[in-house]
Amino acid sequence: ERQKRIRNFSIVAHIDHGKSTLADRILEMTDTISKREMKNQILDDMPLERERGITIKLNAVALTYHAKDGQDYIFHLIDTPGHVDFSYEVSRSLAACEGALLVVDSTQGVEAQTLANVYLALDNDLAILPIINKVDLPSADPAGTRQQIEDEIGLETDEAVDISAKTGVGVAEVLEKIVHDVPAPTGDLAAPLKALIFDSKYDDYRGVVLSIRVFEGTVKKGDRIKLMNSGAEYEVAEVGINSPKPLARDVLMAGDVGYITAAIKDIKDTQVGDTVTSAAQPTSDALAGYRQMTPMVYAGLYPTDNAKFNDLREALEKLQLNDAALTFEPESSQALGFGFRCGFLGLLHMDVVQERLEREFDLDLITTAPSVTYHVDLHDQTTKAVENPAEMPDVSAIKDIKEPYVKASIMVPNDYVGAVMELCQRKRGQFDTMEYLSDTRVNVIYHIPLAEIIYDFFDKLKSSTHGYASLDYEVDDYRESDLVKIDILLNGDRVDALSFITHRDFAAERGREIAAKLKKIIPRQNFEIPIQAAIGSKIIARTTIKAYRKDVTARIHTGDPDRRAKLLDKQKRGKKRMKAVGKVEIPQRAFMAVLQTD
Ligand code: GDP
Ligand code: MG
Repeated sequence: ERQKRIRNFSIVAHIDHGKSTLADRILEMTDTISKREMKNQILDDMPLERERGITIKLNAVALTYHAKDGQDYIFHLIDTPGHVDFSYEVSRSLAACEGALLVVDSTQGVEAQTLANVYLALDNDLAILPIINKVDLPSADPAGTRQQIEDEIGLETDEAVDISAKTGVGVAEVLEKIVHDVPAPTGDLAAPLKALIFDSKYDDYRGVVLSIRVFEGTVKKGDRIKLMNSGAEYEVAEVGINSPKPLARDVLMAGDVGYITAAIKDIKDTQVGDTVTSAAQPTSDALAGYRQMTPMVYAGLYPTDNAKFNDLREALEKLQLNDAALTFEPESSQALGFGFRCGFLGLLHMDVVQERLEREFDLDLITTAPSVTYHVDLHDQTTKAVENPAEMPDVSAIKDIKEPYVKASIMVPNDYVGAVMELCQRKRGQFDTMEYLSDTRVNVIYHIPLAEIIYDFFDKLKSSTHGYASLDYEVDDYRESDLVKIDILLNGDRVDALSFITHRDFAAERGREIAAKLKKIIPRQNFEIPIQAAIGSKIIARTTIKAYRKDVTARIHTGDPDRRAKLLDKQKRGKKRMKAVGKVEIPQRAFMAVLQTD
């Protein structure tokens, strides 16, 4: 029967090891995409993914593979992102599959997210097929990479295939391996419907589109379905698969990966991880679902135009459907007005959310500096969770402040262990253990404040190890630290959205750095603007933005009208991302000044 010929698998790997390129070759070799339509990393269809050359969203595609045994097999392939910030996309994808292709770049070997993804696949009881990629490159070391996979991951590599996802060498063999080594799905076709929602998105015409994996039963157009968490019931408008364009089907059955639409307009009814069942004949037990993600960092998102507050709320609700890790709640700032405090899994995630809101929902936003959540113990015996530095209680009320620490594992060649330890030490890290992976490589484990990780740790790690170190981390516990809040005053007024929290030892230096940076970023105006950094009422740094002189504003003479139009347009666009605070115009970059060093 049909079910025996279905194979559901994800492609997982460390970032840049070639997942999306392998997906391209598979789509091409199975004629899912014609040569004419083919372009690189075709599943990275969001403009943002294409510009940055990274995968942000999971992407499920159905295709047909004509195997050597003469049979046609139905493959459901899910391409996944590699960056730590998007690992929730990976774990959700894996729950819909029976197998995972583990791609390892043979010029880089096993890296931190290679290992992290293997653990995720093992958690989901998946068959793991190691694949050695980029063997076309002169610096490829397939034998060494196999050895690393055996020693450091503990997977057999006798069956691993050497491939070049770029040229296509070896990919035909991978397709056969999928048929033989990824188990076919099981699941009773006659049982009541039980399907897992692993992703969703909002479509203006069709309402919520649910990406689902059917585990039991069948679903077709006209069926009444029930979303088990919310209890909401709907009539199915369409079922189908992505190929990669949506393609309506008569029915989806146990083992299939596809989508359902049901004119769902109420966004709150749907939740990834929820189980879809039949309204008439509901299943008794829901699927396990997903654990809720806890945001790592928080930042305020404000519309530059205060009248757009409700638009922003609606946009966040719709985006959340497609980005299950995003959280938000309303907040207000004296400087910025009404906005939302949003939770993200990391800075790349934050950046992506802001960009998607601006592009997909046509909003102009100001993002404030990101912050972790602090636990503040007060003298009145209560504890307050502070996600916004501006809300830090007065020093006199505070007994102690605890901050989140991560357990960071850093994989690095022996030669760089010294450099890594020095960096971790400088970032207030506490040494845990060091594990020898082989004669030449170690896994160094440190406990480091999350705030230092999001600040510039990764860049510093890459530069101090010539790119050889890779990092994975998870939040571990809260530890007490000597932290202080630094306020920034512009023209004598405290700007709440510029406040930040730092370790006391770094306070004076950070205060000076930021004052100096703001001086560069904030445009001159026709009056002098003093900039001060303060802890409580104590000023720790000061500088001044001078008033502009007349000649600076003299008209730019440019003969070319095209060029003048472009200049004006550029100025106008730059203008949007400004916020007037009192009399001072503050550009977006100023709110991020807290983040960048040098
Ligand atoms: P992903 O982050 O794992 O999805 O990686 P991509 O598929 O986006 O590939 C990252 C980069 O590696 C791209 O520039 C690809 O062109 C390149 N790449 C992927 N596979 C190969 C390969 O087999 N050989 C070579 N030379 N380059 C490859
Ligand atoms: Mg990719």
